[in-house]
Amino acid sequence: MKALQCLEIGAPPELVEIETPEPGPGEVRLRVTAAGLCHSDWFLMGLPADQYVYGLPLTLGHEAAGVVDALGPGATGVAVGDAVAVYGPWGCGRCHACAQGREDYCPNAAAQGIAPPGLGAPGAMAEYMIVDDPRHLVSLDGLDPVECVSLTDAGLTPYHAIRSSLSKLWPGSTAVVIGVGGLGHVAVQILRAITPAAIIAVDVDDDKLALATEVGAHRTVRSDSDAGARIRESTAGIGAEAVFDFVGAAATVQLAREVVAIDGDVQIVGIGGATLPTGFFSTPFGASVRAPYWGSRAELLEVLDLARSGSVRVHVERFGLDDAPEAYRRLHDGGIRGRAVVVP
Ligand code: NAD
Ligand code: ZN
Repeated sequence: MKALQCLEIGAPPELVEIETPEPGPGEVRLRVTAAGLCHSDWFLMGLPADQYVYGLPLTLGHEAAGVVDALGPGATGVAVGDAVAVYGPWGCGRCHACAQGREDYCPNAAAQGIAPPGLGAPGAMAEYMIVDDPRHLVSLDGLDPVECVSLTDAGLTPYHAIRSSLSKLWPGSTAVVIGVGGLGHVAVQILRAITPAAIIAVDVDDDKLALATEVGAHRTVRSDSDAGARIRESTAGIGAEAVFDFVGAAATVQLAREVVAIDGDVQIVGIGGATLPTGFFSTPFGASVRAPYWGSRAELLEVLDLARSGSVRVHVERFGLDDAPEAYRRLHDGGIRGRAVVVP
């Protein structure tokens, strides 16, 4: 089968021909129907050799949808032909976090060598993929795989962040979304769907700001040195009760600090690697700073239900597997509007 793989640290991914995998005991093989591209893929491809922990060769793709194609010995709960999406942050399945479906916060996964598909295990940028356990499959139940595959990360991750700030987002509150790319443009829609907050979207790119308005942002602000002042002004000096930073660079965490309200939340979702010092005289009284990771299995079901009700729709640019290297180049250069999805 064809697969898009990282073969060498620091080099762009390449399309290769590899053996079609066989499902082992308890595993499920999917014929991939859609695979989303995430900026995190570029993060790992840009790591220096001493920090790269994902193994080589690595088949990319941690947003996955497919049709069940074969069951390994003892795998139950799904049937050949089922259309499913994959819950990506695989955990041990037995600890306290996993018992709550919060496998994204499993403390045992790394030690047990369990890694998400596309981030250690072979991912979805291929004709077939292996899923380690049927519990990591969610029925699409009528949803289109190409339209919805990115809800497994670009939807689930902002949903998880927003949900944990819900108590701050009362009528009259303000939410700031920094970075209106794959995750950010879904975040705006989730905020519209589940909170009464006024939404201010921030980006460096005018076309991304236009997309933010199309998907429901009440106001847009260009990300520059005046952005903080403009956001403060439009909140009558109070600031934003919640700031969601989908970049995580020095400039954006600084902007988050400038605009977060007293007792507000800053959620640093982007993995730009910048830090935000928190304490008296550096952040407002009561402000919380959090760096959330992905989301829970229950939250994935909730995000898919938001899509079913029509509240959330991913803006998708489609590519064939042969064009996946080009799609990654476009993502790298900021040329994707919404999310790029590969359809093998
Ligand atoms: P993307 O490339 O689709 O979107 C990034 C957006 O940020 C673009 O619109 C870009 O124009 C904008 N941007 C860049 N610099 C900016 C700045 N200084 N100010 C304002 N906007 C700026 O990326 P994505 O796939 O949506 O991922 C967003 C981030 O979230 C990445 O860092 C990714 O690695 C991370 N991520 C984190 C998790 C998690 O669990 N925490 C999960 C998935 C992705
Ligand atoms: Zn991702």
